[in-house]
Amino acid sequence: MLIRTRFAPSPTGFMHVGNLRTALYEYLTAKHDNGVFILRIEDTDQERYVEGATDIIYKTLETAGISHDEGPDVGGDYGPYIQSERKGLYKPYAEQLVKEGKAYYCFCSKERLDSLKQNAPEGAVVGYDRHCRDLSEDEIRKNLESGTPYVIRQKMPLSGESTYHDLVYGDITIPNDELDDQILIKTDGFPTYNFANVIDDHTMGITHVIRGSEYLSSTPKYNALYEAFGWDIPTYIHLPLINGKSVDDEGNVTISKLSKRHGSTGFFDLIEEGFLPEAIINYIALLGWCPAGEYENREIFTMEELIKAFDINGISKSPSVFDYDKLEWMNGEYIKNMDSESFIRNAKPFFDELDISADNYGLLEEILKPRITRFTEIPGKLAFIKEFGEFDLELFEHKKSKSSKETSVDALEAAIPILESAPWDRDKLNDLIKQLAADKEVKNSVVMWPIRIAAAGVAVTPGGCAEVLMLLGREESMKRIRTTLDRLKGSING
Ligand code: GLU
Repeated sequence: MLIRTRFAPSPTGFMHVGNLRTALYEYLTAKHDNGVFILRIEDTDQERYVEGATDIIYKTLETAGISHDEGPDVGGDYGPYIQSERKGLYKPYAEQLVKEGKAYYCFCSKERLDSLKQNAPEGAVVGYDRHCRDLSEDEIRKNLESGTPYVIRQKMPLSGESTYHDLVYGDITIPNDELDDQILIKTDGFPTYNFANVIDDHTMGITHVIRGSEYLSSTPKYNALYEAFGWDIPTYIHLPLINGKSVDDEGNVTISKLSKRHGSTGFFDLIEEGFLPEAIINYIALLGWCPAGEYENREIFTMEELIKAFDINGISKSPSVFDYDKLEWMNGEYIKNMDSESFIRNAKPFFDELDISADNYGLLEEILKPRITRFTEIPGKLAFIKEFGEFDLELFEHKKSKSSKETSVDALEAAIPILESAPWDRDKLNDLIKQLAADKEVKNSVVMWPIRIAAAGVAVTPGGCAEVLMLLGREESMKRIRTTLDRLKGSING
């Protein structure tokens, strides 16, 4: 059987990581078996329409590397792939059920339906009382002729139970009397969401329906439709909730549905924070799916590897917790393993802001790669290049380096003439500075610490003394070292 899966987002203008995981699992399920992955836009609810939202969906899938074989933008044999463009298609299906006695016209006014609710005991779930389910032919004809507005409702079974199988949650059974006579077509002639969803899945040949577990309870209604039409029910895979973790001041941990208060939950918000699309996808793939066999315990996967390794049986029904620290770690792994070209491409916007010359890209790649877990850390790590002010001279007092303000004055005075004429080359600078320490018969750090601090003005820099000098260039380095030396002398004498 050719597997056909679909991602059916409603264009809300925002792609939550939960939706993205659904899309990814649908994609992987199809691709693992050389199947077809479809994108369908579910915009029946025009009131919720958000301008530009469909573009965000395309952009998200593209950036995430999830490519659809059929969809509004790429076409396919089962189109149109946007529900609002399929409007005319649904009503004939509902009419067919009316003819077969499986659905009926309901002429109840809004007032009547409201009164049902008002007269019900407080807190009761009020379904439709099926008033129009058994109207006579005559009554129906009269109502239609007089143009009374109507909806089409499905006749749901009145007794017994319905059971369906979900690949993750197992058998799910509900008593049929909990099923309301659901509306298929609204008074405006358009389908309800539930009806359109089933008609679309069937007419698009969908074999596997993958969606969030919040749909578990609606599925019996969908199945009642498949049964009424005599259609094959697709394989259902409901995905467990994604939770977030919060820790209060006292260290108490609370787990609740992932929301903004836990951190960014939108795909592009995470990208903006510096997470790489590949790392986000890799992390999300493991949120609720556990690799097995030869992939057991593995954490880093390319999309190709995910396609090979993915297996529906590895989906867990216990809710997962979105762990931002883990994502951060994974992002760092992706950065460490990046080739130079990709590293520079990702880092360049940040380098450009600091006016860093391309001559230093190689050096920066080497010193930053092991030190960052996100590219957005670069401005912070390299802030010393742009910012230099009256920093605290106590930084020169550093026991471990055997450095004090006095030894620093001495080291800087000796270093200045050497640096002034030194070839501005990392290895040569390193050699010269080490030579200076040897000549003075002190530890390297006694010279290196003050030079680096005097030039950078901060205690922590990526890379050591020679790297900082290389990044600043001779002119800026000398200017800073001289200024600092003057300040140091002043502070000792004063
Ligand atoms: N349009 C629905 C949503 O965005 C999709 C539900 C489904 O996959 O059937 O939640």
